Amino acid sequence: MVFLVKDSDWNVQTRLLAGGHAAGRAGPEIRPVVSPVYETASFELPGVAEAAALYGEDALGEAFTYSRYANPTCAELERRVSALEEGVGAVATGSGMAAIALSVLNLCQAGDNLVCSSDVYGSTHTLFAHTLRRWGIETRFVDGRDPQAFARAADRSTRALYGETMPNPSLRTFPIRQVADVADRLGVPLIVDNTCAPVLCRPGRHGAAVVVHSATKYIGGHGAALGGVVVDTGRFAWGAAGARLPMLTEPDPAYHGQVWTALAGARGTSAYLVRLRRTLMRDLGPALAASAASRLVQGIQTLPLRMARHCDTAALIASRLHGHPALRRVNHPSLHAGDDARRARHYHGARGGLIGLDVAGGREAAAAFVSRLRIVRHVVNLGDVRTLVTHPAGTTHSQLGAGELASLGISPGYVRLSVGLEDPADLIHDLTQALDAVTLLEQP
Ligand SMILES: *Cc1c(COP(=O)(O)O)cnc(C)c1O
Repeated sequence: MVFLVKDSDWNVQTRLLAGGHAAGRAGPEIRPVVSPVYETASFELPGVAEAAALYGEDALGEAFTYSRYANPTCAELERRVSALEEGVGAVATGSGMAAIALSVLNLCQAGDNLVCSSDVYGSTHTLFAHTLRRWGIETRFVDGRDPQAFARAADRSTRALYGETMPNPSLRTFPIRQVADVADRLGVPLIVDNTCAPVLCRPGRHGAAVVVHSATKYIGGHGAALGGVVVDTGRFAWGAAGARLPMLTEPDPAYHGQVWTALAGARGTSAYLVRLRRTLMRDLGPALAASAASRLVQGIQTLPLRMARHCDTAALIASRLHGHPALRRVNHPSLHAGDDARRARHYHGARGGLIGLDVAGGREAAAAFVSRLRIVRHVVNLGDVRTLVTHPAGTTHSQLGAGELASLGISPGYVRLSVGLEDPADLIHDLTQALDAVTLLEQP
């Protein structure tokens, strides 16, 4: 390659910063199969007038100016996750919790409330119950399996309903359609966290307006990077929300008095995502790093293949461990009964990669079981290629009281497995030898 160095009369420090730069950019002659990682905080702007337009009233925030708003590598992840959820667009964030926080803060301000299923992820629960409450946003927790409870808890200041497809660790499937119907009657969106059931369930098909993901889990799949995504499924008519969603339909003093639904309507895009990117990403700054985005993009390419294997192996393990004397109960969608079974079949084919094991001897027996595992690793993550085990009462859910734990189905001996891609026979052997050891300990 010939470098046209026209900067030879610059001094060394200048040449090292500014020289040969164009040659380092991917021009049309370079056609990489894997997208380059745009590890850059900012992007060179065109002329001053054009730059002003990128920041002006009509800007959607998707132009590449500064990576807190948008970055090409993060945009690739946004397109892939939007495609996964059959959405109209997405915004990537630095973690799943950032995606969840923004999904709600984009609709609620002090004095507003949301109605949420009580068995959501532990950090989501503390975000809603404590952090947002301090900011004047109230969360009303209801039994997620009772759609009418959402209707009863809602009032004029309710801005969203919230649930998880397959809440972890309870694994009790959320009745998305029925709660979406309640949301429709109220004129508010239903937000669904689909972290534990990507590919298995498309919440948008069942009426969810917004889908959030912790991409850290199955999407990335390799436990290497944190990330989150907010997807607009296109099922909600933001432009018709009127006084129900004033943050989208009334002039926003945070952005030249912009009415987001008017701007997005004129441009045929999502008012919800444009506002989220233009104001919340700007002001709170939980941007996803390009390096993390590239790992997550690599992960999502094999997501359906991995999910199939995670689910097949999990169902096999659940059936093999079911009835083991060291266990009070094996919790997996394939073993659900009654309404739970019907919902699990309807929404995700009764499939799932997570298993709950209620170890009969309580906390000590659960600890003994975990310590005897050799392949399965003790890690508070899920959706990894490796099989992982956690003890929710002692870790992810340790901030909850005994009553709250019990209502979530988390007994002191409850452990959660996230089934990985190892050979199923080796996993069954490892789990069984650890459970057999615990059974022997229990015997007087
Ligand atoms: C892990 C997880 C989150 C939080 O995601 P982070 O990427 O860890 O911030 C949210 N929801 C569910 C269901 C999760 O499993």
